[in-house]
Amino acid sequence: MRIVAISERTIPVSRYADPALPSGGLTTSLVTVTTDVWRGGHPVIGHGYASVGRFAQGGLIRERFAPRLLAVAGASLADEAGTTLDPFRAWAVMMNGEKPGGHGERCVAVGALDMAIWDAAAKIAGEPLAALLARRTGRPAPPDTVPVYAGGGYPYPAGDLDRLAGEIAHFANLGFTHAKIKIGADPECDARRIEVAARQLPGSAHLAVDAMNRFDLAGGLAAAAMLGPFGLWWFEDICDPHDFATQAAVAAAYPAPIAAGEALFSVAEARLLDRHGGLRRDRDILVFDPAHCYGLTGYCGIVETLTAAGWPREAFWPHGGHLFALHVVAGLGLGGAEVSPLAFAPFRGLADGARINGGRAPVPQAPGIGFELHGEAWRAFKADGA
Ligand code: MG
Repeated sequence: MRIVAISERTIPVSRYADPALPSGGLTTSLVTVTTDVWRGGHPVIGHGYASVGRFAQGGLIRERFAPRLLAVAGASLADEAGTTLDPFRAWAVMMNGEKPGGHGERCVAVGALDMAIWDAAAKIAGEPLAALLARRTGRPAPPDTVPVYAGGGYPYPAGDLDRLAGEIAHFANLGFTHAKIKIGADPECDARRIEVAARQLPGSAHLAVDAMNRFDLAGGLAAAAMLGPFGLWWFEDICDPHDFATQAAVAAAYPAPIAAGEALFSVAEARLLDRHGGLRRDRDILVFDPAHCYGLTGYCGIVETLTAAGWPREAFWPHGGHLFALHVVAGLGLGGAEVSPLAFAPFRGLADGARINGGRAPVPQAPGIGFELHGEAWRAFKADGA
């Protein structure tokens, strides 16, 4: 069981529904992995993508990690029973010769390929990714729906408050009960954004805010003082992801839930956050992103490590959203998933026709991740001839 071809294409992604708005020049990698296994008269092809909040990883994929997968001979990528690809074995092949530390961008390159390999493995097994993932990790059969929230609320360059109100109202109309917006400007501006967004939801307890790692110690403490009275759902990405001292100092001054981990990429970094970040296991949220931290295979290691250290599975709400996260949450029994209803085309939203009900989204039931059920994403992948 072999991987016989891998392709990567770089595409632009945007934080806004309107891609004409400036969004930092973000790009991502679309990856297709073709296997030598045939189903229904066609080779099984897995699809994946890199981070939606960072940049594409074409160089590392083409020059370093794809050649290792393509060079492996014979059945060494099959699982024990020989029935499908083994993503854990494929991950070990990709990481062969890599030294510990220095995660840089390679974790995202590996993450994109890893997603496509899991997609292909579930397709070969003929089951949704959530089912394969639960089986491989010894978990119970996954639920058909998972809790979700709507991610978005990036600042608009003009007409910010009106457009923010419209965006969050749209989320509520779609059935989302919770949402997350960005903060990090001056406290007065942030407070106005929170008031406007919370008015579109059942209250500020249904709203999370994300500072995108912008604050220093003084800024983080000032924000914590401003945010406290709102009783928010959570306060995310306070400071530099490695500034555990600032993170811990803000946590000590902010009793409401904090979320962290989105920009940490390894088991070792997750341990450091747990030991030194001041997080509280009874209330705080872990937003590690499978596409950031060496893929789902690396993410499983973080979940295993932190749950063994006492964290509840419900604390994990993976950043990044989209169809992939629905499977990750269902398969591993985690708290819930982020969905970007408007941002980050072509991956935004749910499968075509899927609806939010009671704050929960359906997990796609096609074999694999189910990109085939999401017209916008599927057209992007098909543009590669996949
Ligand atoms: Mg974040």
